Amino acid sequence: MEYIDQPIAEKKRIALVAHDNRKASLIEWCHKHRDILEQHQLLGTGTTGTKIEAATGMAVEKLFSGPMGGDQQLGAKICQGDVDILIFFWDPFEPMPHDPDVKALLRIAAVWNIPVACNASSADMMVQSALMERSFSRLVPDYQGYLAARKVETAV
Ligand code: PGA
Repeated sequence: MEYIDQPIAEKKRIALVAHDNRKASLIEWCHKHRDILEQHQLLGTGTTGTKIEAATGMAVEKLFSGPMGGDQQLGAKICQGDVDILIFFWDPFEPMPHDPDVKALLRIAAVWNIPVACNASSADMMVQSALMERSFSRLVPDYQGYLAARKVETAV
């Protein structure tokens, strides 16, 4: 696979997701970093987004609830280049009915090389990074090049 530079802009689209036992922690984290989060654009899975909006008053674009496909919607947005950062407080103590979707979301975040934080201390470091205030370079798979190479392969 070849890679190309697809920079992450100064204003970031931040996806927020928390499993039920972790929602209170994510809400607390959002309160703590409100000043920073307000400067960016927020989206999240259905229940997480609704609860953050109610608790903080910050606008959150809400996708479907995770078990109903919200994690997959988020994964699709990452592929399309519509999400810059994933903050995902997943529950390390409980199995989930949508475990395959959770794994798929984390995989696709790795494929498209977006910053991911799965706990409060990683998320603290991420949003306090100097890179939050400016654009920075990110290498992603060269999908157009991949398609072009496949065309050549199927033509011969
Ligand atoms: P929820 O989904 O925000 O709708 O609870 C999160 C998840 O379970 O992945």
